[in-house]
Amino acid sequence: MGDNLPVQEKDVVVEVLQPYGTSIFTEMTVLANAHGAVNLSQGFPDVDGPREVRERAAEAILRGPNQYALSVGIPGFRQAIARKINRFYGLTVDPETEVTVTAGATEGLCATLLGILNPEDEVILLEPVYDTYAPISALARARLKYISLEGDAFELPKEKLTKAFSPRTKAILINNPQNPCCKVFTRKELSFIGDLCQQYNAYAIGDEVYEHLVYDGTKHETLLSIPSLKNRAFVVSSTAKTFSMTGWKIGYVIAPEALSRAVRMSHQFIVFCGQSALQEAMAYAMDLPDSYYETLLSDYTAKRDVLSQGLADLGFRVLPSAGTYYVVTDITPLGFDDDLAFCRMLPEKAGVAAIPCSVFWKDRRQGRHLVRFCFAKEMETLEEGIKRLRRWFK
Ligand code: PMP
Repeated sequence: MGDNLPVQEKDVVVEVLQPYGTSIFTEMTVLANAHGAVNLSQGFPDVDGPREVRERAAEAILRGPNQYALSVGIPGFRQAIARKINRFYGLTVDPETEVTVTAGATEGLCATLLGILNPEDEVILLEPVYDTYAPISALARARLKYISLEGDAFELPKEKLTKAFSPRTKAILINNPQNPCCKVFTRKELSFIGDLCQQYNAYAIGDEVYEHLVYDGTKHETLLSIPSLKNRAFVVSSTAKTFSMTGWKIGYVIAPEALSRAVRMSHQFIVFCGQSALQEAMAYAMDLPDSYYETLLSDYTAKRDVLSQGLADLGFRVLPSAGTYYVVTDITPLGFDDDLAFCRMLPEKAGVAAIPCSVFWKDRRQGRHLVRFCFAKEMETLEEGIKRLRRWFK
């Protein structure tokens, strides 16, 4: 037994995690709940996914078995994932050796990074960067190199990226479509990154959880289809966004056999396996007809347009949202210059919650004018959010 002195956080929390603090999504959702705000911050829908999928899950739980699944995922779900990859991208993946089911994309990313990174390996992150990549890489004692996407269109700075690659580069993370900036990478950009990976013997890790939310007729390009990445790509995806069941935490990683072995190696020691009954239900969901995916996209397109227009009418400078279920706005025309202060004030003052984007850059000054709103909500919720903002601005 130790003494009774208060425990200091810095003595307990592992050093590499100390700079990261509490996730911004937790902070803003807690604030939203405390003030009864319309929560347009954290990325989750306010309506659950298809009832028939939930019924399958309930049925599977009652019927059982409710015991550990195979570590790599139940065969039926892995086969359904392979069928979906073939249906949407015309690619063939082997469900036995190339698909690993994980506890959400979060664990998929974790298993991939912890499975391949040695201390001092370099990992390239594209800013604004989704919040889990840096801390997981840091846990593996990797070195982080940040490259900022540039301008309102968040363009890939090819020259800077080329300079960032080195013989120590082990991996680059590509979130496509990109959260929070809503960018959709072109095939040309992905091929450029692929060529660098090939040149430096590095891996590309694609986080493609928003793969079915790409707007205006643009086609999602998966890393799996880039020729230079044939033996170098890990693609992490999730059922959370596509089937509006973020609480189920069902994700997966697709990669060639040798790469999948690394994922499976660490995955077995992180969670061992995902939830068996929910995997069974998601196997059914994956096979839903094209009309399901089309309706999802057209519903979100309408919501994107309503929220974007509503925010523009209030005086926000709204950046185009090419993918994901978010829209990013510039708050400077409204007279604000600090996104974090703005978002911390918003739930109490306006009764609306949003996400400050500067936290997605290492140097916070870069995104201080940007605030992200989520439109994965009922139309009435979005309209109520806009109504509240209008009242507050008045
Ligand atoms: N990657 C990105 C870019 C995300 O936005 C999210 C969810 N917010 C995740 C990963 C996590 O997905 P999951 O819930 O399946 O772990």
